[in-house]
Amino acid sequence: MPASRVLGEAPGRGFYQMMVMAARRKDAGGQSDVEAGMAKYLAAEYCKEVVEDSLRIHGGYGYSTEHEIERLYRDAPMLLIGEGTAEIQKMIIGQRLVRDYGR
Ligand SMILES: Cc1cc2nc3c(=O)[nH]c(=O)nc-3n(C[C@H](O)[C@H](O)[C@H](O)COP(=O)(O)OP(=O)(O)OC[C@H]3O[C@@H](n4cnc5c(N)ncnc54)[C@H](O)[C@@H]3O)c2cc1C
Repeated sequence: MPASRVLGEAPGRGFYQMMVMAARRKDAGGQSDVEAGMAKYLAAEYCKEVVEDSLRIHGGYGYSTEHEIERLYRDAPMLLIGEGTAEIQKMIIGQRLVRDYGR
């Protein structure tokens, strides 16, 4: 699912809020792996969308190695793979939410 759908009308705010929440919990000595996982997942999805939009705005130049956007377009999907793929992140987040809040 595109992150913008998850984030609703305030794209970018969802993962920022999750990141701040995770950092506050960590600072307080608590566990913050779910919040950090949510922030990572949402930020990676959003990054991919933003970079794709930017590539389109650049038109043909976006495809040229002369411009930074070409590298960003190649690198952004890596955020959905490295250090836990988006699919695995979603599974872990879902399992933890069911465990902590499910009946
Ligand atoms: C440029 C780059 C740098 C990297 N750097 C590091 C590093 O520094 N340190 C490090 O430890 N690793 C690193 N990696 C490895 C990276 O963490 C793994 O590629 C990543 O965890 C996915 O593992 P995999 O490639 O074995 O894919 P697989 O585990 O084979 O997964 C393939 C696809 O299937 C999906 N999938 C797998 N299992 C399930 C499931 N049960 N349910 C649903 N979907 C599933 C995955 O989400 C993925 O889309 C790097 C990878 C790349 C490309």
